[in-house]
Amino acid sequence: MEPVKRNILLNPGPSTTTDTVKYAQVVPDICPREKEFAGLMKGIREDLVRIVHGDLQKYTSVLFCGSGTINIDVCLNSLLPEGKKILVVNNGAYSTRATEICEYYGLPFIDLKFPVDQIPDLEVVEKTIRENPDIALVHTTHNETGTGLLNPIKEIGALAHRYGALFTVDTTSTYAMRPINIEEDNIDFCMASAQKGLMAFTGLSFVIGRREAIEQSASYPKRSYYCNLYLQYEYFEKTGEMHFTPPVQTIYAAIQALKEYWQEGEEAKWARHTRVFNAINKGLDELGFRQVIRPEWRAGLVSSAIYPDDPAWDFDKIHDYCYERGFTIYPGKISTANTFRLCALGAIDEPDINDFFMVFKNALKETGVAVPVHYSTPEETK
Ligand SMILES: *Cc1c(COP(=O)(O)O)cnc(C)c1O
Repeated sequence: MEPVKRNILLNPGPSTTTDTVKYAQVVPDICPREKEFAGLMKGIREDLVRIVHGDLQKYTSVLFCGSGTINIDVCLNSLLPEGKKILVVNNGAYSTRATEICEYYGLPFIDLKFPVDQIPDLEVVEKTIRENPDIALVHTTHNETGTGLLNPIKEIGALAHRYGALFTVDTTSTYAMRPINIEEDNIDFCMASAQKGLMAFTGLSFVIGRREAIEQSASYPKRSYYCNLYLQYEYFEKTGEMHFTPPVQTIYAAIQALKEYWQEGEEAKWARHTRVFNAINKGLDELGFRQVIRPEWRAGLVSSAIYPDDPAWDFDKIHDYCYERGFTIYPGKISTANTFRLCALGAIDEPDINDFFMVFKNALKETGVAVPVHYSTPEETK
């Protein structure tokens, strides 16, 4: 097996993969309607439930061919009964995406907005649910990938359940990294995509959730032909297959990635991501960078650093310098501040971050940015 050039992706997914996962895609051609292939998907579906410690009697997973956004689309359009409303607890770009999906489908929804650098006020969340008894579905994002903020999903889920609503959580940027227990965390449905925590490839996404709730949704309005949760579930249950053509090679890679997930183990993998995240924060701190999210609210996977006030600072130039040397950094996703992100996803470890900061420091020096970096306003003490 020829080693493939290793790039360190510090963007929030797709993430750096192992060569064994890359090469797992190179397989003999197969028609996915063969039994041999359908059998592979059963194993994946069960493994995906096991990752969030779900009981296989109560929970199932449904696979889709698409990037991670397909899951948000599927959950919101499929799990809302006629005449009911969705509440989106929104403090960032990915929950905003959920509100846009509601808009496109014409689903009744409340966009309950909070500042992007703050955790939601649970009293306001509760008051909203209490005062709107037609809310049947509460949705939020676990790790707001735009900033790296960790939302209190267990608490939000408890509120949703207290008032009889379903709770769907976008766990795309925590799943298979930060440990999740679907039942204890009060989640009815969570979701992810193979290119993030699993360290495989884009094209395979999955919703994991309560069988009973999916079966109940059989009578809800069908708002999409391709992206309906019940229809895809029913097809899987009957045939073991996706309704339409699955991403064959991507699935082979995901199987290898799952093997490597269990080999590394939940605890060791989370410890490694934490090591990487700590090394990123240490590097940023040493260079004087400020971050958007206060330390105790960070999900431990995405650092969101604020652009320094230095006329020489040019994100694109710094990006290009790092990119040419095998390191990818990523712009931010908030409108209130100019930020860039460094993420702890993927098959990387602390030495990769140390290597990165050597390159990054050189990039600052080469482009004439003063180190430690400078800000014109005193740091807010929050
Ligand atoms: C990456 C990500 C998604 C999915 O994005 P795609 O580009 O569609 O794969 C959804 N939600 C969150 C929180 C994410 O981090």
